[in-house]
Amino acid sequence: MKTVVQKYGGTSVGSIERIQAVADRVSTLRATGAAVVTVVSAMSGETNRLIGLAKELAPQPTLREMDVLLSTGEQVSASLLAVALNHRGVRARSFLGHQIRIDTDSCFGRARIRNIDVAGLRKSLDAGEVAVVAGFQGVDPEANITTLGRGGSDTSAVAVAAALQADSCEILTDVDGVYTTDPRICPEARKLDRISYDEMLELASLGAKVLQIRSVEAAKRFDVPVCVRTSFSDEPGTWVVREEEGMEDVVVSGVALDRDQAKITVRGVPDKPGLASKLLGPMASAGIVVDMIIQNASEAGDTDMTFTVPQADYERALPMLEAVAQEIGAGGVTADANVVKVSVVGLGMRSHAGVAARMFDVLATEGINIQMISTSEIKISVVLEAKYGELAVRVLHRALVEEAL
Ligand code: ADP
Ligand code: ASP
Ligand code: MG
Repeated sequence: MKTVVQKYGGTSVGSIERIQAVADRVSTLRATGAAVVTVVSAMSGETNRLIGLAKELAPQPTLREMDVLLSTGEQVSASLLAVALNHRGVRARSFLGHQIRIDTDSCFGRARIRNIDVAGLRKSLDAGEVAVVAGFQGVDPEANITTLGRGGSDTSAVAVAAALQADSCEILTDVDGVYTTDPRICPEARKLDRISYDEMLELASLGAKVLQIRSVEAAKRFDVPVCVRTSFSDEPGTWVVREEEGMEDVVVSGVALDRDQAKITVRGVPDKPGLASKLLGPMASAGIVVDMIIQNASEAGDTDMTFTVPQADYERALPMLEAVAQEIGAGGVTADANVVKVSVVGLGMRSHAGVAARMFDVLATEGINIQMISTSEIKISVVLEAKYGELAVRVLHRALVEEAL
């Protein structure tokens, strides 16, 4: 018997009509004899609505209580889908994170899954039920409810698929696959039939939120083939898989826009060993992920250090850095949240020179100033003033994907 894990995102369960459509789809699949686990997100807009409620009461709500609050969104959609399935005569049972159990660490708001006990799910599947799992949530060793970070239901789905050794993991969403860039920004974007885990990992890290980064990490680690497809039709979608022969022939497979960036500069840092670690250490301890880092050549023994952090962490990072800057005698800290990061990604960059030159040339032609640059084997990222983000995506897509090198 085939075991299929299907994850339905917020838009796919966004209304009663949509939940009915999902129930029809699941019952058709169940009728083939497959064992079916569905993982659901909160109804679209619900997680943001709940965050808004808490923020009306406190600008920085207690993290533990936020997870108790936010996990309710998924609880609602899991129960509603189970209600709809049972009504159709398809036996279904909903499961919350702690009922399964999905064990996580205690990092509220961004917890990592440590282990999934599949005994309860197996029992339900063996009894012929559809197991409807509330995505995005788990439980820590002290029995606190945790959530897995925005978009975390993707990770719930991949992790459940890995734990059950499912035959496939489908991510059903409001686009019919992974595109060469966000189709909402660039109408010329093209759907990819296949993409490697590494390229998808870069695209996801660089702002293509069609899959949560951690879900791609988990898929790669546990070798779970993931199919991203639309819940609105039977279109085949995009397979995210291990690298295959021929994949490297495509130089640039995608362009990503990350709006969730803020740039911080610490000026006049004495050019001495240990100071970079002194500056960045406290942020790492506070769980703030520092992304691009640039250090200028020193002038008269002082250097400027610039780096980017997620917008949500920016207000937390500033006072920390100001304190260290004062301690080490640096000149001061300036910050700019009005930036975006635009990146091009492709396995073919490993063997193809000239992508960076072409990228900078295209941006220059549009009069777009590059503030920071970083590269890896299969990507090039630039930080730009926010207002140029979408334009940069379109011109880079045209020059590097549509016209190919
Ligand atoms: P869900 O609620 O189903 O999890 P998301 O909103 O998280 O859906 O992700 C789907 C969205 O991701 C699409 O509507 C699209 O706007 C966006 N997106 C960004 N980059 C890409 C890309 N490269 N390919 C496809 N979709 C993308
Ligand atoms: N509901 C959560 C969010 O909006 C998780 C998810 O949809 O994957 O981020
Ligand atoms: Mg999502």
